[in-house]
Amino acid sequence: MGVDGGEEEQIQEPTECHERIFVSVRLRPLSEKEIVRHDVSDWECINDNTVIYRSKLSVSERSMYPTAYTFDNVFSSDCSNRQVYETGAKEVVLSVVSGINSSVFAYGQTSSGKTYTMTGITEYAMADIYDYMQRHKEREFVLKFSAIEIYNESVRDLLSADSSPLRLLDDPERGIVVEKLTEETLRDWNHFKELLSVCEAQRQLGETSLNEASSRSHQILRVTIESSAREFLGNDKSSMLAATVSFVDLAGSERASQSLSAGARLKEGCHINRSLLTLGTVIRKLSKGRNGHIPFRDSKLTRILQSSLGGNARTAIICTMSPARSHVEQSRNTLLFASCAK
Ligand code: ADP
Ligand code: MG
Repeated sequence: MGVDGGEEEQIQEPTECHERIFVSVRLRPLSEKEIVRHDVSDWECINDNTVIYRSKLSVSERSMYPTAYTFDNVFSSDCSNRQVYETGAKEVVLSVVSGINSSVFAYGQTSSGKTYTMTGITEYAMADIYDYMQRHKEREFVLKFSAIEIYNESVRDLLSADSSPLRLLDDPERGIVVEKLTEETLRDWNHFKELLSVCEAQRQLGETSLNEASSRSHQILRVTIESSAREFLGNDKSSMLAATVSFVDLAGSERASQSLSAGARLKEGCHINRSLLTLGTVIRKLSKGRNGHIPFRDSKLTRILQSSLGGNARTAIICTMSPARSHVEQSRNTLLFASCAK
Protein backbone atom coordinates (compact mmCIF):
# COMPACT_ATOMS: atom_id res chain seq x y z
CA MET A 1 0.00 0.00 0.00
CA GLY A 2 1.28 3.49 -0.73
CA VAL A 3 1.24 6.37 -3.19
CA ASP A 4 2.24 4.14 -6.06
CA GLY A 5 -0.88 2.04 -5.53
CA GLY A 6 -3.02 4.60 -7.34
CA GLU A 7 -1.25 4.34 -10.70
CA GLU A 8 -3.03 1.40 -12.19
CA GLU A 9 -6.24 3.23 -13.01
CA GLN A 10 -7.58 6.70 -13.51
CA ILE A 11 -9.53 8.60 -10.93
CA GLN A 12 -12.89 9.58 -12.27
CA GLU A 13 -13.61 13.24 -12.02
CA PRO A 14 -16.18 13.80 -9.28
CA THR A 15 -19.67 13.78 -10.71
CA GLU A 16 -22.91 15.43 -9.76
CA CYS A 17 -24.69 13.14 -7.35
CA HIS A 18 -27.81 13.61 -5.31
CA GLU A 19 -27.41 10.82 -2.86
CA ARG A 20 -25.39 11.96 0.13
CA ILE A 21 -25.11 9.06 2.55
CA PHE A 22 -23.67 5.77 1.29
CA VAL A 23 -23.86 2.76 3.55
CA SER A 24 -21.77 -0.39 3.23
CA VAL A 25 -21.42 -3.47 5.38
CA ARG A 26 -18.16 -5.39 5.61
CA LEU A 27 -17.73 -8.88 7.05
CA ARG A 28 -14.30 -9.76 8.36
CA PRO A 29 -12.96 -13.34 8.32
CA LEU A 30 -13.38 -15.45 11.46
CA SER A 31 -10.51 -14.64 13.80
CA GLU A 32 -8.04 -17.19 15.16
CA LYS A 33 -9.76 -16.96 18.51
CA GLU A 34 -13.17 -17.59 16.99
CA ILE A 35 -11.87 -20.55 14.96
CA VAL A 36 -10.18 -22.10 18.00
CA ARG A 37 -13.42 -22.06 19.97
CA HIS A 38 -15.28 -23.61 17.00
CA ASP A 39 -17.35 -20.53 16.37
CA VAL A 40 -19.08 -20.63 12.99
CA SER A 41 -19.85 -18.01 10.40
CA ASP A 42 -23.53 -17.15 10.26
CA TRP A 43 -23.54 -14.45 7.60
CA GLU A 44 -23.04 -14.50 3.86
CA CYS A 45 -22.96 -11.91 1.11
CA ILE A 46 -25.14 -13.31 -1.67
CA ASN A 47 -24.47 -10.46 -4.12
CA ASP A 48 -22.96 -6.94 -4.12
CA ASN A 49 -25.78 -5.47 -2.04
CA THR A 50 -27.26 -8.15 0.17
CA VAL A 51 -26.07 -9.94 3.26
CA ILE A 52 -28.11 -12.81 4.66
CA TYR A 53 -28.30 -14.70 7.93
CA ARG A 54 -27.65 -18.31 6.99
CA SER A 55 -28.66 -20.18 10.09
CA LYS A 56 -32.18 -21.17 10.90
CA LEU A 57 -34.22 -18.71 12.91
CA SER A 58 -36.67 -19.92 15.51
CA VAL A 59 -40.33 -18.99 15.04
CA SER A 60 -40.12 -16.13 17.54
CA GLU A 61 -36.87 -14.87 16.03
CA ARG A 62 -38.42 -14.93 12.59
CA SER A 63 -40.96 -12.35 13.61
CA MET A 64 -38.22 -10.15 15.09
CA TYR A 65 -35.33 -10.27 12.66
CA PRO A 66 -35.04 -10.09 8.89
CA THR A 67 -32.89 -12.74 7.20
CA ALA A 68 -31.75 -10.47 4.34
CA TYR A 69 -30.35 -6.94 4.59
CA THR A 70 -29.69 -4.69 1.60
CA PHE A 71 -27.24 -1.77 1.38
CA ASP A 72 -25.35 0.27 -1.21
CA ASN A 73 -22.55 -2.29 -0.96
CA VAL A 74 -21.73 -5.37 1.04
CA PHE A 75 -18.21 -6.77 1.26
CA SER A 76 -17.52 -10.42 2.01
CA SER A 77 -14.66 -11.54 4.23
CA ASP A 78 -12.31 -12.03 1.27
CA CYS A 79 -12.60 -8.42 0.04
CA SER A 80 -9.45 -6.32 0.32
CA ASN A 81 -9.15 -2.84 1.76
CA ARG A 82 -8.59 -1.59 -1.76
CA GLN A 83 -11.91 -3.04 -2.94
CA VAL A 84 -13.71 -1.55 0.05
CA TYR A 85 -12.14 1.84 -0.63
CA GLU A 86 -12.78 1.81 -4.39
CA THR A 87 -16.41 0.77 -4.14
CA GLY A 88 -17.45 2.06 -0.75
CA ALA A 89 -15.63 5.34 -0.19
CA LYS A 90 -13.65 6.69 -3.13
CA GLU A 91 -16.39 8.70 -4.80
CA VAL A 92 -17.38 10.32 -1.52
CA VAL A 93 -13.78 11.08 -0.52
CA LEU A 94 -12.86 12.64 -3.85
CA SER A 95 -15.69 15.13 -3.82
CA VAL A 96 -13.36 17.04 -1.50
CA VAL A 97 -11.18 18.13 -4.44
CA SER A 98 -14.16 19.92 -5.94
CA GLY A 99 -14.84 21.80 -2.73
CA ILE A 100 -17.43 19.51 -1.13
CA ASN A 101 -16.89 18.37 2.45
CA SER A 102 -16.90 14.64 2.95
CA SER A 103 -16.57 12.11 5.72
CA VAL A 104 -15.95 8.40 6.01
CA PHE A 105 -16.95 6.49 9.14
CA ALA A 106 -16.14 3.02 10.39
CA TYR A 107 -18.93 1.78 12.66
CA GLY A 108 -19.09 -1.57 14.43
CA GLN A 109 -18.49 -3.48 17.61
CA THR A 110 -14.99 -3.71 19.09
CA SER A 111 -12.72 -6.06 17.09
CA SER A 112 -15.04 -6.13 14.07
CA GLY A 113 -12.43 -4.45 11.84
CA LYS A 114 -13.01 -0.66 12.11
CA THR A 115 -9.36 0.32 12.51
CA TYR A 116 -8.23 -2.22 9.91
CA THR A 117 -10.74 -0.75 7.45
CA MET A 118 -10.16 2.96 8.22
CA THR A 119 -6.39 2.64 8.07
CA GLY A 120 -6.64 1.17 4.58
CA ILE A 121 -9.22 3.67 3.38
CA THR A 122 -7.25 6.66 4.69
CA GLU A 123 -4.07 5.60 2.90
CA TYR A 124 -5.77 4.86 -0.44
CA ALA A 125 -7.73 8.09 -0.22
CA MET A 126 -4.63 10.19 0.43
CA ALA A 127 -2.76 8.42 -2.38
CA ASP A 128 -5.63 9.30 -4.74
CA ILE A 129 -5.65 12.91 -3.56
CA TYR A 130 -1.90 13.21 -4.20
CA ASP A 131 -2.43 11.59 -7.58
CA TYR A 132 -5.19 14.08 -8.40
CA MET A 133 -2.90 16.98 -7.51
CA GLN A 134 -0.19 15.56 -9.79
CA ARG A 135 -2.60 15.53 -12.69
CA HIS A 136 -3.91 19.05 -12.07
CA LYS A 137 -0.81 21.17 -12.27
CA GLU A 138 -2.91 24.11 -13.38
CA ARG A 139 -4.00 24.47 -9.76
CA GLU A 140 -2.04 25.11 -6.62
CA PHE A 141 -2.98 22.92 -3.64
CA VAL A 142 -2.43 23.29 0.09
CA LEU A 143 -3.18 20.32 2.35
CA LYS A 144 -3.64 20.74 6.08
CA PHE A 145 -3.80 17.85 8.51
CA SER A 146 -5.20 17.62 12.03
CA ALA A 147 -6.12 14.75 14.31
CA ILE A 148 -8.25 14.48 17.42
CA GLU A 149 -9.54 11.92 19.81
CA ILE A 150 -12.84 12.19 21.67
CA TYR A 151 -12.93 10.27 24.89
CA ASN A 152 -15.76 10.70 27.40
CA GLU A 153 -16.89 13.88 25.62
CA SER A 154 -13.43 15.32 26.05
CA VAL A 155 -11.42 16.38 22.97
CA ARG A 156 -7.67 15.79 22.70
CA ASP A 157 -5.10 16.82 20.09
CA LEU A 158 -3.37 13.72 18.68
CA LEU A 159 -0.56 15.82 17.18
CA SER A 160 0.40 17.41 20.48
CA ALA A 161 2.21 15.98 23.49
CA ASP A 162 -0.10 18.08 25.65
CA SER A 163 -3.12 15.93 26.37
CA SER A 164 -5.25 18.53 28.13
CA PRO A 165 -8.82 18.77 26.83
CA LEU A 166 -9.55 21.24 24.04
CA ARG A 167 -12.57 23.52 23.91
CA LEU A 168 -14.95 23.89 21.02
CA LEU A 169 -15.67 27.44 19.89
CA ASP A 170 -18.56 28.65 17.79
CA ASP A 171 -16.81 30.88 15.29
CA PRO A 172 -19.27 33.13 13.41
CA GLU A 173 -17.32 32.71 10.17
CA ARG A 174 -15.74 29.28 10.32
CA GLY A 175 -18.40 27.43 12.32
CA ILE A 176 -17.28 25.05 15.05
CA VAL A 177 -13.55 25.31 15.72
CA VAL A 178 -11.42 23.22 18.06
CA GLU A 179 -9.44 25.77 20.05
CA LYS A 180 -5.63 25.46 19.93
CA LEU A 181 -5.77 22.39 17.69
CA THR A 182 -2.51 21.69 15.85
CA GLU A 183 -2.89 21.97 12.11
CA GLU A 184 0.10 20.83 10.05
CA THR A 185 0.57 21.89 6.45
CA LEU A 186 1.52 18.70 4.63
CA ARG A 187 4.81 18.86 2.74
CA ASP A 188 4.47 15.54 0.97
CA TRP A 189 3.38 11.92 1.33
CA ASN A 190 6.18 11.05 3.75
CA HIS A 191 5.23 13.94 5.99
CA PHE A 192 1.66 12.58 6.03
CA LYS A 193 2.92 9.12 7.02
CA GLU A 194 5.07 10.64 9.77
CA LEU A 195 2.07 12.45 11.22
CA LEU A 196 0.05 9.24 11.15
CA SER A 197 2.67 7.57 13.35
CA VAL A 198 2.61 10.53 15.74
CA CYS A 199 -1.17 10.08 16.09
CA GLU A 200 -0.80 6.36 16.64
CA ALA A 201 1.81 6.92 19.36
CA GLN A 202 -0.31 9.60 21.06
CA ARG A 203 -3.34 7.36 20.95
CA GLN A 204 -1.51 4.47 22.59
CA LEU A 205 0.00 6.75 25.22
CA GLY A 206 -3.49 7.91 26.18
CA GLU A 207 -4.70 4.35 26.43
CA THR A 208 -2.05 3.20 28.88
CA SER A 209 -2.27 6.22 31.15
CA LEU A 210 -6.04 6.02 31.30
CA ASN A 211 -5.94 2.25 31.34
CA GLU A 212 -8.58 2.21 28.69
CA ALA A 213 -9.09 0.52 25.37
CA SER A 214 -9.66 2.29 22.08
CA SER A 215 -13.13 0.80 22.20
CA ARG A 216 -14.30 3.91 24.04
CA SER A 217 -12.80 6.67 22.01
CA HIS A 218 -13.41 8.17 18.59
CA GLN A 219 -10.52 9.12 16.36
CA ILE A 220 -10.95 11.76 13.68
CA LEU A 221 -8.27 12.48 11.09
CA ARG A 222 -9.00 15.53 8.96
CA VAL A 223 -7.43 16.85 5.80
CA THR A 224 -8.40 20.26 4.50
CA ILE A 225 -7.66 20.85 0.83
CA GLU A 226 -7.43 24.39 -0.46
CA SER A 227 -6.79 25.05 -4.11
CA SER A 228 -6.68 27.94 -6.51
CA ALA A 229 -5.93 28.38 -10.21
CA ARG A 230 -2.28 29.21 -10.78
CA GLU A 231 -3.21 31.71 -13.45
CA PHE A 232 -5.55 34.11 -11.82
CA LEU A 233 -8.04 35.07 -14.48
CA GLY A 234 -9.56 38.38 -13.43
CA ASN A 235 -11.39 38.62 -10.16
CA ASP A 236 -12.82 35.11 -10.25
CA LYS A 237 -13.43 34.00 -6.68
CA SER A 238 -14.94 30.73 -7.89
CA SER A 239 -11.46 29.52 -8.76
CA MET A 240 -10.75 29.17 -5.03
CA LEU A 241 -11.89 25.92 -3.45
CA ALA A 242 -11.63 24.63 0.10
CA ALA A 243 -13.10 21.53 1.70
CA THR A 244 -12.34 18.99 4.38
CA VAL A 245 -12.36 15.22 4.34
CA SER A 246 -12.74 13.49 7.73
CA PHE A 247 -11.75 9.89 8.44
CA VAL A 248 -13.55 8.69 11.54
CA ASP A 249 -12.72 5.53 13.47
CA LEU A 250 -15.61 5.32 15.93
CA ALA A 251 -15.78 3.88 19.43
CA GLY A 252 -17.08 0.30 19.61
CA SER A 253 -20.78 0.29 18.79
CA GLU A 254 -21.51 -1.79 21.90
CA ARG A 255 -21.15 1.61 23.62
CA ALA A 256 -24.36 2.73 22.00
CA SER A 257 -26.47 -0.30 22.67
CA GLN A 258 -29.43 0.66 24.75
CA SER A 259 -30.40 -2.95 25.21
CA LEU A 260 -27.82 -3.47 27.97
CA SER A 261 -29.42 -3.57 31.39
CA ALA A 262 -28.21 -1.06 33.96
CA GLY A 263 -26.73 -3.94 35.94
CA ALA A 264 -24.73 -5.24 32.99
CA ARG A 265 -23.56 -1.73 32.22
CA LEU A 266 -22.25 -1.25 35.75
CA LYS A 267 -20.61 -4.64 35.80
CA GLU A 268 -18.76 -3.95 32.58
CA GLY A 269 -18.02 -0.39 33.59
CA CYS A 270 -19.55 0.47 30.27
CA HIS A 271 -21.14 3.84 29.81
CA ILE A 272 -23.41 4.78 27.00
CA ASN A 273 -21.30 6.85 24.67
CA ARG A 274 -23.10 10.11 24.07
CA SER A 275 -21.26 10.99 20.87
CA LEU A 276 -22.01 7.61 19.32
CA LEU A 277 -25.65 7.71 20.29
CA THR A 278 -26.08 11.25 18.96
CA LEU A 279 -24.29 10.35 15.74
CA GLY A 280 -26.86 7.60 15.21
CA THR A 281 -29.74 10.04 15.68
CA VAL A 282 -28.14 12.66 13.42
CA ILE A 283 -27.47 10.19 10.61
CA ARG A 284 -30.96 8.70 10.87
CA LYS A 285 -32.49 12.16 10.56
CA LEU A 286 -30.19 13.21 7.73
CA SER A 287 -31.02 10.08 5.78
CA LYS A 288 -34.73 10.89 6.03
CA GLY A 289 -34.19 14.34 4.53
CA ARG A 290 -32.38 17.47 5.58
CA ASN A 291 -35.36 19.37 6.92
CA GLY A 292 -36.28 19.79 10.56
CA HIS A 293 -34.14 19.87 13.65
CA ILE A 294 -30.94 17.83 13.55
CA PRO A 295 -29.33 17.59 17.00
CA PHE A 296 -25.71 18.27 15.99
CA ARG A 297 -25.19 20.25 19.17
CA ASP A 298 -25.91 17.30 21.48
CA SER A 299 -22.41 15.77 21.37
CA LYS A 300 -18.80 16.74 20.73
CA LEU A 301 -18.46 14.37 17.78
CA THR A 302 -21.49 15.70 15.93
CA ARG A 303 -20.62 19.34 16.70
CA ILE A 304 -17.12 18.90 15.29
CA LEU A 305 -18.42 17.05 12.25
CA GLN A 306 -21.47 19.22 11.59
CA SER A 307 -20.06 20.76 8.41
CA SER A 308 -18.92 17.32 7.24
CA LEU A 309 -22.37 15.79 7.69
CA GLY A 310 -24.92 18.53 7.08
CA GLY A 311 -25.40 20.89 4.16
CA ASN A 312 -24.24 19.39 0.89
CA ALA A 313 -21.57 17.22 2.54
CA ARG A 314 -21.21 13.62 1.45
CA THR A 315 -20.81 10.68 3.80
CA ALA A 316 -19.73 7.06 3.49
CA ILE A 317 -20.38 4.73 6.39
CA ILE A 318 -18.66 1.37 6.47
CA CYS A 319 -20.26 -0.89 9.05
CA THR A 320 -17.94 -3.69 10.06
CA MET A 321 -19.07 -6.95 11.61
CA SER A 322 -17.75 -10.28 12.77
CA PRO A 323 -19.40 -13.21 10.99
CA ALA A 324 -19.26 -15.30 14.17
CA ARG A 325 -22.35 -16.83 15.75
CA SER A 326 -21.21 -15.72 19.20
CA HIS A 327 -21.53 -12.08 18.06
CA VAL A 328 -24.91 -12.39 16.43
CA GLU A 329 -26.59 -9.90 18.74
CA GLN A 330 -24.05 -7.13 18.15
CA SER A 331 -24.02 -7.92 14.43
CA ARG A 332 -27.78 -7.46 14.28
CA ASN A 333 -27.43 -4.13 16.10
CA THR A 334 -24.85 -3.05 13.54
CA LEU A 335 -27.14 -4.05 10.66
CA LEU A 336 -29.99 -2.18 12.30
CA PHE A 337 -27.84 0.95 12.54
CA ALA A 338 -26.80 0.51 8.91
CA SER A 339 -30.42 0.07 7.81
CA CYS A 340 -31.50 3.22 9.63
CA ALA A 341 -28.70 5.20 7.99
CA LYS A 342 -30.07 4.37 4.53
P1 ADP B 1 -11.76 -2.68 15.75
O1 ADP B 1 -10.97 -1.47 15.35
O2 ADP B 1 -13.16 -2.68 15.21
O3 ADP B 1 -11.74 -2.95 17.23
P2 ADP B 1 -9.65 -4.09 14.36
O4 ADP B 1 -9.63 -3.31 13.09
O5 ADP B 1 -8.59 -3.80 15.34
O6 ADP B 1 -11.08 -3.96 15.06
O7 ADP B 1 -9.67 -5.62 13.95
C1 ADP B 1 -9.55 -6.68 14.90
C2 ADP B 1 -8.59 -7.74 14.35
O8 ADP B 1 -9.13 -8.34 13.18
C3 ADP B 1 -7.26 -7.17 13.94
O9 ADP B 1 -6.25 -8.09 14.27
C4 ADP B 1 -7.37 -7.01 12.43
O10 ADP B 1 -6.13 -7.10 11.79
C5 ADP B 1 -8.27 -8.17 12.05
N1 ADP B 1 -9.13 -7.83 10.90
C6 ADP B 1 -10.16 -6.96 10.90
N2 ADP B 1 -10.77 -6.90 9.71
C7 ADP B 1 -10.10 -7.76 8.91
C8 ADP B 1 -10.25 -8.16 7.53
N3 ADP B 1 -11.22 -7.66 6.75
N4 ADP B 1 -9.37 -9.07 7.04
C9 ADP B 1 -8.41 -9.58 7.82
N5 ADP B 1 -8.21 -9.26 9.12
C10 ADP B 1 -9.04 -8.36 9.67
MG1 MG C 1 -10.02 -0.08 16.60
